Amino acid sequence: MNQLLPLVARARVTLRDPQRLIPAVAAHLVDHGAQIAEAPGGATVVAFEFCRGILQAGHDTLFLQAEAPDTAFLHEIKTELAEHVEEFARLPAGAIAWEGDASSFDAPPNFRLMTVADVGDVTPHMRRIRLKGQALTRFASLRNLHCKLLIPPAGRMPEWPSLDRHGRFVWPDGPGRPVIRKYTIRAADPDAGWLDIDFVLHADAGPGSAWAARARPGDIVGLVGPGGRSIMPAARYLLAGDETALPAIARLLETLPAQSQGLALIEVAGPAEEQAIANRTGIVIRWLYRGQAPAGTTTLLQDAVAALPVPGDSDGLFAWVSCEFRAFKAVRAQLRKHWGFPKEAHLVTAYWRRGWTEDGAERLDALAGTVAAIARRIAPD
Ligand SMILES: Cc1cc2nc3c(=O)[nH]c(=O)nc-3n(C[C@H](O)[C@H](O)[C@H](O)COP(=O)(O)OP(=O)(O)OC[C@H]3O[C@@H](n4cnc5c(N)ncnc54)[C@H](O)[C@@H]3O)c2cc1C
Repeated sequence: MNQLLPLVARARVTLRDPQRLIPAVAAHLVDHGAQIAEAPGGATVVAFEFCRGILQAGHDTLFLQAEAPDTAFLHEIKTELAEHVEEFARLPAGAIAWEGDASSFDAPPNFRLMTVADVGDVTPHMRRIRLKGQALTRFASLRNLHCKLLIPPAGRMPEWPSLDRHGRFVWPDGPGRPVIRKYTIRAADPDAGWLDIDFVLHADAGPGSAWAARARPGDIVGLVGPGGRSIMPAARYLLAGDETALPAIARLLETLPAQSQGLALIEVAGPAEEQAIANRTGIVIRWLYRGQAPAGTTTLLQDAVAALPVPGDSDGLFAWVSCEFRAFKAVRAQLRKHWGFPKEAHLVTAYWRRGWTEDGAERLDALAGTVAAIARRIAPD
């Protein structure tokens, strides 16, 4: 990706020591999937798969450039750069203002208004909803499996996000403000203009599950994305998760190369919740039944992983696991401590936390982020 990408935005910000800030921001963005390179003239290039940023230090000024193939990626890279520079330089949010392409948008380019086209039940507790909308090509890529749904409050006129002059999301704060929930894109056909999402209809239904339960053709919902990380190419896979991960596991089994081998461990309540999956790979599916135990209370997944032989270096294995928080912690410890699995060979995440709404979990994430930022400031190196 050496040539200039078609959309370019630039920003500058006055700082006391811009040269010192750049390596810290760049190192942090590596954790977000960026690759770092040096450009002629000493600029630092932060390259993501489809877009990149360039940071160059002047005497007391940091120059930023964002380049991308379309407005959605441009928005993404601008946000990545601006938010992290503001955080590391202890600038107020919004201190960085962009000029150039797509600077005058008033709606976020990665936001879509979607209309419910069809509602059906895959199993008694898994509801598939087909959403129709425009410009969905990015949602068909396996690179980003997830999206955020902006669920309007029942019975109120919805209000949707906009962009401020710095290109940042502005969330409405009126009574029509939507609630955000994360879901997996189960399937997408951009040419036909639809994507499918499978919703777990769970006990103690929050806004996501309740919306799915009441959705009817013609209803409107907001969509932001796609986002999130996905699996890495490998010869063998361990895929594991509960019902919330089932849409991702099923999509992977339907789309991974046919020669892929491995095991998929899927926890569901019982046989009635098993789905027919058009598995085109050699990955073997093993269903684990929770029975009467409530979701998020068993050790089925961690026990099943613990019973597997420890893989060797030459096994070419990638592990992808998503489930409830406690199981996530146990399986991640199993992979890291007992298997000694390297970071790049697994992606283990919590998709929900028993007894917590997603907003609660996000508040905890935000707190953890703040604590990490304070720790960095106390001991920057
Ligand atoms: C990247 C990502 C992708 C995801 N993909 C999907 C998907 O494709 N389909 C899907 O259904 N979910 C998916 N999830 C999980 C989903 O976002 C959470 O389950 C979310 O909490 C549901 O929101 P809610 O409004 O229904 O419940 P919340 O308001 O968040 O929670 C209300 C209560 O319900 C409980 N709860 C939440 N989820 C469950 C559950 N699954 N079973 C039992 N109790 C639960 C909570 O602990 C809480 O007590 C995904 C999550 C992530 C992070």
